[in-house]
Amino acid sequence: MIDIHNHILVDVDDGPKSINEAIKLLKQAKYEGATDIVATPHHLHTRYSNDIQKVKVKLNELKNNPDIKGLGLRLYAGQEIRVTDRIIDDLKNCKIEGINGSRYLLLEFPSNEVPHYSNQLFYELQTMGYIPIIAHPERNKAIVQNMDLLFEFVNSGALSQITTSSLLGEFGSNVRKLSLKMIDNNLAHFIASDAHNATNRPFMLKQLFNERKLKSYYEELESYLENGKAVLENKRISKQLPTQEYKQKKWFGLF
Ligand code: FE
Repeated sequence: MIDIHNHILVDVDDGPKSINEAIKLLKQAKYEGATDIVATPHHLHTRYSNDIQKVKVKLNELKNNPDIKGLGLRLYAGQEIRVTDRIIDDLKNCKIEGINGSRYLLLEFPSNEVPHYSNQLFYELQTMGYIPIIAHPERNKAIVQNMDLLFEFVNSGALSQITTSSLLGEFGSNVRKLSLKMIDNNLAHFIASDAHNATNRPFMLKQLFNERKLKSYYEELESYLENGKAVLENKRISKQLPTQEYKQKKWFGLF
């Protein structure tokens, strides 16, 4: 399984603070069935910034660790880029690269809002040849309140990634329900762990496929994991047109 969003690098953000913590986290990843892992530390975040050069240096430290080598995982460089007005400059100055050097950028909105310039920014990024992947929109307050925001982004060519623990109810039942609605409306394209540490925010991949409540979604979930492969290879992903059935259901619910 391919995980395109997690925090495994040592002492660069709110991920592991020591090599031992990182080893523990990667052992868990292996146990959860991960084979390919893209390290995506925060960049342009209010508290953490990690340009791609630093990500590659820190990633090599992990790759060269004998305990980690022994796990036989394939590790790649990426970034979880906070949506700010500095993204274009950082791309031009080579401080940002897509996942594994691809056209795919993992972007994160601030948790409470979708900045007003986001549509324009996404348009510019797409004009430059990049494809935005929105990290865990199901946990963004503005999108939770108004799914149309997400629909507009996806309808304009952006992709989205659900966090596996959201589907398992770790962020509450509302986030879980919204995640399922995203799948029902073709508003999701990837699932990823967003793992930070082995205890509070662990790697969860295989666990999804043990959850009986998600059984009717297994096929979609598998295709989302498969999409991760296309990202690593910088290929197009197969996707379906997004729908707005979430609106109809609400309307029927009123009567
Ligand atoms: Fe993250």
